[in-house]
Amino acid sequence: MKNIVIFGAPGSGKGTQSDLLVEKYGFKHISTGDVLRGEIKNGTQLGQTAKSYIDKGQLIPDSLMIDILAATYDALGKCEGVIFDGFPRTIPQAEALKEMLAARGTEVSGMLELQVPDEMLIERLVNRGKTSGRADDNEETIKARLEVYHNQTSPLADWYENEGKRHA
Ligand code: AMP
Repeated sequence: MKNIVIFGAPGSGKGTQSDLLVEKYGFKHISTGDVLRGEIKNGTQLGQTAKSYIDKGQLIPDSLMIDILAATYDALGKCEGVIFDGFPRTIPQAEALKEMLAARGTEVSGMLELQVPDEMLIERLVNRGKTSGRADDNEETIKARLEVYHNQTSPLADWYENEGKRHA
């Protein structure tokens, strides 16, 4: 069973690439952003908590996110492979994913990195905001999300490089 991490900034095309892998290989797709937006839509307590971070372009705290990821993964059942889209976003999340998969007798097969310049990301996300209905696809929140990406998420590229799993 394959576990693929799709890695890149907001707007880099992780969702689109995931859809292609789902179609081509029949993998299942976990988008933590989609999971959180589902919780918000359903008006759950978790959704309310998540919304307060998402609307500011900030990350949901690691401990909460790690529990959500494990529950989502375990609910998938048997499959050929899983694509992780939007998780991990911090080094503690990457460490937790490694541990979680090891406890289930598996591991990350590879991390696929999508590299797109910031100007293009901003343009794409502003455009997406016109139709996505996502409250966080506005210019101010987009800039906050990119800052969070550069500060907290991009160090994961080296982390996966050290694991020998980075494919740019
Ligand atoms: P996305 O749809 O992947 O762009 O995620 C939208 C928002 O959901 C992010 O800006 C974060 O606020 C939150 N989020 C999604 N995944 C994570 C994660 N792995 N860790 C923390 N926050 C997350």
